[in-house]
Amino acid sequence: MFVMKTTIFSVIATALSCLLLGAHFLRDGALVAAFLCAVAPIALISRRRAVLLILQIGLLAGALVWAHTGAELVEVRRMLGQPFGRLVAIIGGVIAWTAGSSALLSLPRVKVRWSRDAKTAARSAWAFWLTFASLAALQVAISPPMLLPERFLSGAGWAAVAGLSAYAAWLVAAMSDPGRQPRLRLFVWGLFSAVFFGQLLLGLLVDGRFLMTGELHLPVPALIVAGPIYRGEGLFMPILLGVTLLLVGPAWCSHLCYIGAWDAVAASKRKTVGRLPRRASWVRVGILAAAVITAAVLSVAGVPGSAAAVIAAAFGLVGVAVMLTWSRRRGTMVHCTVYCPIGLVANVFGKLSPFRIRVDTQSCTRCLACTKACRYDALRAEHVQEGLPGLTCTLCGDCVGACKRSDISYRLLGLSPPRARTTFLVLIVSLHALFLGVARL
Ligand code: SF4
Ligand code: SF4
Repeated sequence: MFVMKTTIFSVIATALSCLLLGAHFLRDGALVAAFLCAVAPIALISRRRAVLLILQIGLLAGALVWAHTGAELVEVRRMLGQPFGRLVAIIGGVIAWTAGSSALLSLPRVKVRWSRDAKTAARSAWAFWLTFASLAALQVAISPPMLLPERFLSGAGWAAVAGLSAYAAWLVAAMSDPGRQPRLRLFVWGLFSAVFFGQLLLGLLVDGRFLMTGELHLPVPALIVAGPIYRGEGLFMPILLGVTLLLVGPAWCSHLCYIGAWDAVAASKRKTVGRLPRRASWVRVGILAAAVITAAVLSVAGVPGSAAAVIAAAFGLVGVAVMLTWSRRRGTMVHCTVYCPIGLVANVFGKLSPFRIRVDTQSCTRCLACTKACRYDALRAEHVQEGLPGLTCTLCGDCVGACKRSDISYRLLGLSPPRARTTFLVLIVSLHALFLGVARL
């Protein structure tokens, strides 16, 4: 009975705190944010532990919002020479109530009612708030708006922030099952690519607001390096790539690139995975060098942008042909592991990130089941023997689920393999949700 009463009281306290926050946003004219706050407690119906954690952290953030608002109001009254003692007492009470309702949700006797998927709750809450924080920062700070709904209806960007954050919370839990991860990764990666190119088509054919800036450039990954060399400016994409490589290493090429998803689909058409010839690594070095030198020569020679664009488009089309022929036939992602210059850049500079894939050579039975899962040709018998994949590994994680003994795993500094994998998943899923929300041409 006591447990029931505490649970009911914490739900009422949470609902009231959310309504107060909603009223605060309503007063500021932020209708969508107000609506989201008002309906947030309804999520408690789900009985998932993640919902409880997400609300708990949200209420703490709400208490900070009140503290910030209180400080602003006190400052105004002080400047006007008006008394502010009562104001401090009221705002202080609201802060205490909001933070208190967060604390109530952490009581073990309350948590017991929200016990579904308790194992993955913390990672879902992390992915939710990481995605929320990064998208909210873009929503608040960037103009014109980066989130698409905001371009059509003022305030609607907040619905995208909340929706994508909830999506990240769900996805990281779903991907926690190593056996399910490969198919899910392929699906959501393809979804990202479809959304990206769908927006490009809508932007060109229907409404320019579907485009990021309207300044079109070709969706050819090689231009991330070649573009700035040719133009002598435009470092946004190299910086974005660099930051991503620092965070999640070469996983750019297994989760985030809108073209790589095509190569993954092409390679998946064949059930078995093939091997690349040894000279393939020299071919990819040659292609990267050729891309850099060509961009520099075109720039120095003053070749106009239209002619350079034709060359870049031709390079991109040859890449598609590589996918449709070699990748499909071999079952290996030949485009990404040989042809695309960014693949090599990601493989090499991705080593700056501390995430790694390692084989436990002590307990590994050398059954080589994991080698059959790698479509990046990074896991041959000799790599299993040595305990580490080859340079072309993109941290895709497909091999992890293929080993029934968990002898191949993610590593991160001194963390245990499960924790390293969880940390990786939280980061990569949050980045995926962020890219899904804002990546467009
Ligand atoms: S290798 Fe190139 S096309 Fe493939 S995923 Fe990486 S950047 Fe994208
Ligand atoms: S070694 Fe494993 S994680 Fe690395 S690319 Fe191959 S399957 Fe993916």
